[in-house]
Amino acid sequence: MSVLIGVIADDFTGATDIANTLSKEGMRVVQVIGVPEPDATVDADAVVVALKSRTAPLQDAISWSMDALEWLLAAGAQQIIFKYCSTFDSTPQGNIGPVADALRDRLSAGPTVICPAFPENGRTVEGGHLMVNGVPLHESPMRDHPLTPMWDSDLSALMSAQSQGDVDLIPLDTVRAGRDAIETALAETAADYVVVDAVSVDDLRAIGRALSDAKLVTGGSGISVGLPQNFLDAGQLSALHAPQAPKVTGRQVILAGSASVATQGQVAYAAARMPAFEVELDRIAQEPDYAEQIARWAWDHSAAAPVMIYGTSSNDVLRRNQEKYGAARAGEMLETTLSDVAVRLAAQGFDTFVVAGGETSGAVVSALNVSTLRICTEIAPGVPWCEVEGARTQAIALKSGNFGAESFFLDALEML
Ligand code: ADP
Repeated sequence: MSVLIGVIADDFTGATDIANTLSKEGMRVVQVIGVPEPDATVDADAVVVALKSRTAPLQDAISWSMDALEWLLAAGAQQIIFKYCSTFDSTPQGNIGPVADALRDRLSAGPTVICPAFPENGRTVEGGHLMVNGVPLHESPMRDHPLTPMWDSDLSALMSAQSQGDVDLIPLDTVRAGRDAIETALAETAADYVVVDAVSVDDLRAIGRALSDAKLVTGGSGISVGLPQNFLDAGQLSALHAPQAPKVTGRQVILAGSASVATQGQVAYAAARMPAFEVELDRIAQEPDYAEQIARWAWDHSAAAPVMIYGTSSNDVLRRNQEKYGAARAGEMLETTLSDVAVRLAAQGFDTFVVAGGETSGAVVSALNVSTLRICTEIAPGVPWCEVEGARTQAIALKSGNFGAESFFLDALEML
């Protein structure tokens, strides 16, 4: 069966988020990192292409997105989702508006929904305004974002600044009137884009159900919740499937490169329950065989139990490292070392990797040469286990720093 839904996601963790949502809704989902080779085939109901286009130069963002679109169409995708952040991370120049315009043109799409709502994370669309935990977007911490400081919360104004299209609104009372009312509103508008109010998952599901004929949908991960059922109803999807746990039996390692508060708590919790190795930046600087030493330590301690290798035990250590090496260099030293260790462990036969930290995850996945992740069972909201198919199946969980409860690492491994 060919691909039904194709997603173009403008960053890596956002891609995993929507892949996880579609998987929980019953589709078999694969996330690919970057646009696959033209002749690559993927067996899945939905394919999510993870780009790094959110803050890339505009022409790159457009051209990568169009490449992703062509690949997805060739794979059979009947509906395209352009996934951006639930805080609409962009500038008055883009990249959301211009990328959406280009996708609309190529697909000859009708009125295109804009709905970044993600109620579980406190992002709602009310009266066309994007709210973050009850405050307008531009009064939330997003106003100080280093790359995409958000200057308005009116999605129509945000979109009009960066897109050629005109923008209409479907208000909450229409959404609450249900699928038919939303379909009618979409059929009646003459606008290119339609911001749709949504404050609950039920709202998102009603919107999704009304989008069965939409060639292009744009929004956060929440916009995908009602879509798989449409394909089932249309007979294009034979069944919905519950996500499966990855099938692995080998050694297990946790690689924690995030310094965030949540990860520090998870590291402390796990360190009290399994062998743990703290990576020291001074030793990275001084000992050329340090990664090899760490890998040997991991092998010696992992026959019976998982092991953890981590970078940050406290803010003091982090501050000291950053003062001594500079924040960028310190981060890179740790990311490179953890990636190097991951490659050595994979070669030794470790097949299960839990990685903490967004940047760290990107570095490890790229070092391990992973290009395709099959989405499996969810560990914590927004964080699924993933299976990597290859000569040897691997299980990988990629957690952005602030996600997950204190027991996240152990919970993850217990699921296997
Ligand atoms: P998060 O998802 O929490 O932002 P990231 O991996 O994206 O995590 O970013 C964390 C950054 O902090 C990485 O570059 C990592 O290498 C760096 N870092 C973590 N711990 C330390 C440490 N002890 N000293 C220096 N840099 C660190």
